[in-house]
Amino acid sequence: MNSRTLTATIALATAIGCTPPPPEQQFLTDAMTALGGRSRIDAAKTLVIEGHGVNYNLGQDMKPEAATQTFEITGYVRTIDLANRRQRIEQTRTPKFAYFQGPQPQAQIQSLDGDVAFNVNPAGEASRAAAAVETDRRFDLYHHPLALLRAATDAKASVTNVRSVGAVRQADIMTAAGIGLTMTVDAAGLPLSISSKADHANLGDVVLTTTFADYQDVNGLKLPAHFTGKVDEFTTWDIQAAKQTLDAEVGDLAAPAAVASKPAPAAAPNVTGEEVGKGVWFLAGQSHHSVLIEFADHLMLIDAPQSEARTLAVIAKAKQTVPGKPLTQLVTTHHHFDHTAGMRAAIAEGMTVITQAGNKEWVENMARRPHTFHPDTLAKNASRLNIETVDGEKEYKDQSMTVMLYHVAGNPHSDTMLMAYIPRDKILIEVDAFSPGSAVQPYAANLLENIQTRNLRVDKIVPLHGAIAPFAELTKAVGVK
Ligand SMILES: [Zn+2]
Ligand SMILES: [Zn+2]
Repeated sequence: MNSRTLTATIALATAIGCTPPPPEQQFLTDAMTALGGRSRIDAAKTLVIEGHGVNYNLGQDMKPEAATQTFEITGYVRTIDLANRRQRIEQTRTPKFAYFQGPQPQAQIQSLDGDVAFNVNPAGEASRAAAAVETDRRFDLYHHPLALLRAATDAKASVTNVRSVGAVRQADIMTAAGIGLTMTVDAAGLPLSISSKADHANLGDVVLTTTFADYQDVNGLKLPAHFTGKVDEFTTWDIQAAKQTLDAEVGDLAAPAAVASKPAPAAAPNVTGEEVGKGVWFLAGQSHHSVLIEFADHLMLIDAPQSEARTLAVIAKAKQTVPGKPLTQLVTTHHHFDHTAGMRAAIAEGMTVITQAGNKEWVENMARRPHTFHPDTLAKNASRLNIETVDGEKEYKDQSMTVMLYHVAGNPHSDTMLMAYIPRDKILIEVDAFSPGSAVQPYAANLLENIQTRNLRVDKIVPLHGAIAPFAELTKAVGVK
């Protein structure tokens, strides 16, 4: 039922005088009444939420199941321009753990103007956000009861599928712009949460949920002051408002013309190939690299990073580099999302995943998760998952190649990380523990310790971030740290 039919139905119900309103209308009325009434909601123009809180580190924590690493959020200001579908979130993020970019606070500005998402760096330069980020932000604007209820009263919006779930009620709301969300209200109609479906590069089908608590009076409306964000069951952020202002003059939140006129940047993978030892190729080109290793009768790939698109391009480059040998093994250095977003594509290719023992369940889970909103190659081409695990170390050897895989013990970046060593060429392949050229190297000392404990003779470090470096660069980085 759309809201025009709703209006007609209500008019009819009023005329008859005793028929209860349809559940869709009742749901909206109850929720709007709980906030302060429709006329006050319709009249609202802007909302500014100022506060502080926490961001978690989903997919980048020490262990796959961990949720211990946090960023402290200060100076949080969320400005919503309700009438123009615009939003800006400003915040300062300070890592409370050994972060790869160092401990200093980072200022962030994340904006949305209608369908255009953009970021503003500390120098004030705006740049268009990636397409996937843009999609998420279009939904995020409505993860607030005032924004969604105001949008729900639009003649082109619809409310459907009102249902009771235990003590709460839920309804699906489709905005005039075609953004679909689910609102949950308590028995009195007070909004408890808003959720929407999204595609996540690693997790596939996810539900993003924002829960609301600590309702307070704000210029005649009752609005939540405590917000918690989740991706499925993983809490990813938590914000407590210290001050909220309705209908303040917020200035112009529009995207700069130069940003709005350009399309969202597409991630076109560029994969280069450089032979760095006999039968060893560095497949680089952008921020996240892979390494290809040739055995007598098969090929091994180290890391399937960043995206399915990049990994498919890396697989194509591997086949072109060594034609005729099957690519059968993927070593995944660690579980972090940016280094495993292509893992499912490698599984679909039939590759065995080799990982540190602590990642086994997580790899199984990633392979099993549904990807129906945006079917990936594994969703379209279901393949059996083969996993091999490495505890402390494992040798992969045949007549033409020997590769040693070692657990990078005690590393403050990840508990379940592997490095690869090729004894013949004295090549060490590692990621994140040491990124040559990076200004800060918080994990390099631990890498050096691991190399020394295992008595490895390393000439060359082939990193999966940054450029190939002589071993001396690592000792220098540790020395000057
Ligand atoms: Zn990492
Ligand atoms: Zn990394």
